[in-house]
Amino acid sequence: MTAIGRDGAPLRVAIVGSGPAGFYVAEHLLAADGRTVEIDMYERLPMPFGLVRYGVAPDHEKIKNVTRTFEKKVASRPAFRFYGNVEIGRDLTLDDLRTCYHQVCFASGAQTDRHLGIPGEDLAGSHPATAFVAWYNGHPDYRDATFDLSAKRVAVIGVGNVAVDVARMLCRTPDELARTDTADYAQAALAAARIQHVTMLGRRGPLQAAFTNPEVRELGQLPGADIAVRPEEIALDPLSREALEQADDRSLRKKMEILEGFAAGTPAGRDRTLTLRFLVSPTELIGDDHAHVRAMRIVRNTLVRGDGGALRPRPTDTVEELPVDLVFRSVGYRGLPIPGLPFDDRRGVVPNDAGRVVDPDRERTPVPGIYVSGWIKRGPSGVIGTNKPDALETVRTMLADLDAGSVLTPATPDPEAARAVVETRQPGRITWDDWQRLDTLERAAGEARGCPRVKFTSAAEALAALGR
Ligand code: FAD
Repeated sequence: MTAIGRDGAPLRVAIVGSGPAGFYVAEHLLAADGRTVEIDMYERLPMPFGLVRYGVAPDHEKIKNVTRTFEKKVASRPAFRFYGNVEIGRDLTLDDLRTCYHQVCFASGAQTDRHLGIPGEDLAGSHPATAFVAWYNGHPDYRDATFDLSAKRVAVIGVGNVAVDVARMLCRTPDELARTDTADYAQAALAAARIQHVTMLGRRGPLQAAFTNPEVRELGQLPGADIAVRPEEIALDPLSREALEQADDRSLRKKMEILEGFAAGTPAGRDRTLTLRFLVSPTELIGDDHAHVRAMRIVRNTLVRGDGGALRPRPTDTVEELPVDLVFRSVGYRGLPIPGLPFDDRRGVVPNDAGRVVDPDRERTPVPGIYVSGWIKRGPSGVIGTNKPDALETVRTMLADLDAGSVLTPATPDPEAARAVVETRQPGRITWDDWQRLDTLERAAGEARGCPRVKFTSAAEALAALGR
C-alpha cells in the first residue's frame, strides 16, 4: 500500500478558516519536502482572509497586501480548493470532515469579544469594539449593526492597537475615509457623525500600554483631530521608571518621547480632540432615563508589582465622572468553542500541545487527526506575521503524526466526494474562481471611485454579482 502523503495517495487536509493562520498552515503543508498534500479550505464567510479583510483598519491598506502572498503561494496551486460561505458546524459537521480527510486543522480565530464585567456595560450606546470594527469593514454579520454617531463624546476603553484603530477611524475626515475600502454605509454614517471628543482609556501607565509606536505616532498626525495627553498621567512612577531603565528597550524610550511630545503640544483647533488617558479604570457606565449611557465612572489607579513581577493597576480613592454618549469596549477578542472539541473556557482557546488538540479531562489525550493554529490555538495576540511560525509548529506536529501513522481513516479521501457533500449542503458555496471574479468586480468599482475596492457585504450580494 502506498504511504499516505506520497505520490498516488495524497494527504487530504481540511483547513477551517481562511485568515492568516489557515493560509500559513496551507503554505507550510504545500511546501513540505517530499509530501503530496491536498487542501480544502472552508470559510464561513463568502470572502476569504478573515481579519485581514474584516479586522485590519481600512486606512492601513498596505497591510492587506499579504493576501497577494496567500494567493501566490497557496490559492493558485492546483492542490488547493476553497469553499467560502460554508460553515463547519452549520453546513458540514466535524464528523463530515472526518469522512473525507486524514487531518483537520481549525484556524477559526477568535470570533467574539471579552467583557469588562462592570455595571452598565450593556446600556444602549455601549458596544464591543469588535462589532464596530466588523461593521466599518463590511463584515456580513455586522453590516446591519447600528451605532449612534450623533454622539459628541466617545470613549474607547483600552489602549491596544485595536483601540487605536477604532479611535483613529472615529477621527478620520470624510475625505480620508473616501479613499479607503471602508464599507459604503459606514462611510456615510461616519461622514455624518457629530463627534467632538474621543477619549482612549488605559488602566495602567504609558509604559505598559499595548499600542505600538508607529500606531500611536500616527494619532498625532491626524488632519482632523488634535491629540491631547495629560502630563501628570504619563509622568512615570518609581516602579515604571525602574522598569524602563532595566528594560534597556529603545522602543519603550521612543514611546515615552512620542507621548511627551503629545503632552507638550498645543491644540491647532481641529474639529475633534483625541485624548489619551492612562492609569484610569472604568468602574461603571451610568445611564440616562432611557437606559442610554451618559457618563462613565472612572477610578484613578497606581501601579504595584504583581505576583509575576509585572506592574498591575491598583485603584485609589480618586474617582471621576466622565461624560460620554458612546462607548467602545476594546478589551480583547475571544475564541468560540467548536462543537465536538474540548474548549478552555477561561482562555477562550482549544487546548492543544504544539497544535495537536488534546482533551484536558482525559490527561491531555490527543484528539486524533484534529489540529489548531492561530488565534483559536494561542489566543488573540500578535500581528499577522506571528501566525506564520505558529502555523509551522502545527504543521510539524501534523507531519510527525503522519509519519507515526496517526491519521484519520476517511471513508472517501477524495476531492470529488468532498465537493459533492459541499454542493449538496451549501449550493451557495463560493469557489476560489468565484472569489477572483468578485475581487475583480470590487476593485473595478473602487477604481471608478478612487478607492482600493468597494466591498460586497453579504453573501446574497456576492452571489447575485456572480449571477446565482
Ligand atoms: P482570523 O483572521 O480571525 O481568521 C479566522 C477565519 O475563520 C475567519 O475568516 C472566520 O470567518 C473563519 N471561521 C471561523 N469559524 C468558522 C467555521 N466554523 N467554519 C468556517 N470558517 C470559520 N495584524 C497586523 O499584522 N496588522 C494589523 O494592522 C492588524 N490589525 C488588526 C485589527 C484588528 C481589529 C484585529 C482584531 C486584528 C488585527 N491584526 C493585525 C491581527 C491579525 O488580524 C491576526 O493576527 C490574525 O488575523 C489572526 O489570524 P487567524 O487566522 O487566527 O484568525
